[in-house]
Amino acid sequence: RTSSAITGFERTFADELSPLTVAWKGADVPDPRLLVLNDELAEALGLDAAALRADDGVALLSGAAAPAGADPVATAYSGHQFGNYAPLLGDGRALLIGELIDLDGHRVDLQLKGSGPTPFSRGGDGYAVVGPMLREYLVSEAMHALGIPTTRSLAVVATGRDVRRDRLEPGAVLTRVAASHLRVGTFELAARNTELVQPLADYAINRHYPDLLGLAPEGSGNRYLTFFEAVLERQAALVADWMLVGFVHGVMNTDNTTISGETIDYGPCAFLDAFDPAAVFSSIDHGGRYAFANQPDVVKWNLARFAETLLPLAGPTADEAIAVMTAALSTFDARYQQHFLAGMANKIGLTDAFGEPELVDDLVTLMAAHRADWTGTFRALASELRGDPTALVDAIPREDVDPWLHRWHATLDRLGRDRAQTAAAMDRINPLYIPRNHQVDFALRAATDGDLTPFERLMDAVTHPFEPRTEWEHFAGPAPASFSDSFQTF
Ligand code: AMP
Ligand code: MG
Ligand code: MG
Repeated sequence: RTSSAITGFERTFADELSPLTVAWKGADVPDPRLLVLNDELAEALGLDAAALRADDGVALLSGAAAPAGADPVATAYSGHQFGNYAPLLGDGRALLIGELIDLDGHRVDLQLKGSGPTPFSRGGDGYAVVGPMLREYLVSEAMHALGIPTTRSLAVVATGRDVRRDRLEPGAVLTRVAASHLRVGTFELAARNTELVQPLADYAINRHYPDLLGLAPEGSGNRYLTFFEAVLERQAALVADWMLVGFVHGVMNTDNTTISGETIDYGPCAFLDAFDPAAVFSSIDHGGRYAFANQPDVVKWNLARFAETLLPLAGPTADEAIAVMTAALSTFDARYQQHFLAGMANKIGLTDAFGEPELVDDLVTLMAAHRADWTGTFRALASELRGDPTALVDAIPREDVDPWLHRWHATLDRLGRDRAQTAAAMDRINPLYIPRNHQVDFALRAATDGDLTPFERLMDAVTHPFEPRTEWEHFAGPAPASFSDSFQTF
């Protein structure tokens, strides 16, 4: 069966890097039913949402129908998982349908996740289930609404297939839209065959950093060193964005670190409620490798693995290549700090160059000591500026927060900041609604049992994260104490 619900697919990756792909197709789907479609994203891609909702569209989005004019592939990659090298991972349950050009002229991948076994499935069944696919849909779209670079979600289709997890669960397929699916792991696989690294790097540069194509492939300041620095910069900015909203990715393996600088793979991820730098939500992350506060260091570690794959291209001799890549990597901490500090300054109503990093550090220390709600505290600080101290007192007791507030007010005075305007500026960048674990959990349970209403309501709120509405008030608060302590996403 074929479907023409989406046409115009291109296939530059499969054509130019065919050794990294295998032609493949989705499994049959017993009873495809559309659970959710992202109309706004469909429109941005120039797709016909009505056609996607029709049987022909749902068949395509389920993986059962072959899209006319496309040649889907499963892609191959390696990766370091929890620090251990896995020579061949690849799309074990995903299918790259092809590439589309969106209305802004950007090339994106359309990928199905959960579409059945592939040559890379290893021990897995190749399927995905409703709860986790709706979770990725919701959290990725929430991240997008927060202005954080991320893959997007176009649709989730229930397949009617029961899939064995802890118990039987309803199967589902997610349609993911990404700037590309190039990962550090893609380069780790290519590095096993030295002929492939340069074509892959040039492909990635052309797709994500086209300005660098003019640089010479050799010599100091060469194209590949500059490419590495560009990825380093995007990843430093990205992980700072995560830290600023209290996001824990949960499975930051090198195959989940993109070359585009987008967040990818929403598995055991979660947003912090009570601030705890050691927060981990995944039951398989025993050592806390991917704990909240470790994330910048882990990104840097993953980028070191990336740097290793580029060594043959980075200098005329191995020694020189190692020297320039090591020097480049060593700029990561300063890049990250700069993004994080600037972001935190903005979150407390100050400009980037306010020159008092201690004010930020001391607030973070206070919030950790009192396990203050990460998201709520910044909204409470804005309320404080409007003369309403009640919300802040819930987060941090008055006698502990007063000295800090005094310093903050002094800084605002020194900068001549109007209190009402500052509070309004803070409320434009500090979200009211994030996907809180207890709310997500509740919505996904209901959806798995067939009721999508709580999911749709939560979706509405988290995709309008800065917009106060009475009907969304219950989405703004932290979890009840009974819920939060031992919560695990995976
Ligand atoms: P992740 O940790 O989600 O990035 O996944 C790591 C690897 O496991 C990737 O190669 C996935 O394609 C693969 N994988 C995850 N779940 C399944 C599954 N149910 N069946 C087959 N492969 C899977
Ligand atoms: Mg992954
Ligand atoms: Mg995953």
